[in-house]
Amino acid sequence: MIGSQGEGLKIALRTLDHTRITIGAQAVGIAQGALDFALDYVKERKQFGKAIADFQGIQFMLADMAMKLEAARQMVYVAAAKSERNDADLTFFGAAAKCFAADAAMEITTDAVQLLGGYGYTRDFPVERMMRDAKITQIYEGTNQIQRVVMARQLLKG
Ligand SMILES: Cc1cc2nc3c(=O)[nH]c(=O)nc-3n(C[C@H](O)[C@H](O)[C@H](O)COP(=O)(O)OP(=O)(O)OC[C@H]3O[C@@H](n4cnc5c(N)ncnc54)[C@H](O)[C@@H]3O)c2cc1C
Repeated sequence: MIGSQGEGLKIALRTLDHTRITIGAQAVGIAQGALDFALDYVKERKQFGKAIADFQGIQFMLADMAMKLEAARQMVYVAAAKSERNDADLTFFGAAAKCFAADAAMEITTDAVQLLGGYGYTRDFPVERMMRDAKITQIYEGTNQIQRVVMARQLLKG
């Protein structure tokens, strides 16, 4: 028997504090792939006589994507360290890292599709798949609504 009688559900649920972080890591990987692909594309694609990477509107999008990605990566690293140590605030950080990274990946991959224009929507390029893959990270291992429930409970518990 693992643990004491009647404690099974609690123990099973506690494993999620650790496994959720891996979904955050998956989201970071998907978002990094989308940013890398979009970066190469905007340097190559020409419109109005220059590479679209030269337009400030495009540059601002790239900067936002990279900024959100780095924030998500750092949150996942912090939560992973807390998982290793079994810190008391792991429940909050595991939920926060998964939720933040998944939401960031959804935004970043959607922007990557936008940066490729019409080609982004087609299956000829990988970013449409990355956008779909980012979506599942908002849904499984507890939806992001449920992560927010978990975080709020931790906050209210004090
Ligand atoms: C590709 C894929 C792989 C999966 N792999 C696994 C797996 O390996 N193991 C496993 O156990 N499960 C797995 N799942 C299931 C996944 O974890 C569930 O789909 C997910 O937890 C959501 O549950 P549900 O689909 O029943 O949605 P529902 O619970 O019906 O939720 C529908 C919507 O209502 C929202 N909602 C529900 N309750 C609340 C609430 N209290 N407050 C606010 N909003 C709420 C949800 O966030 C969601 O937006 C997988 C799903 C997919 C699509």
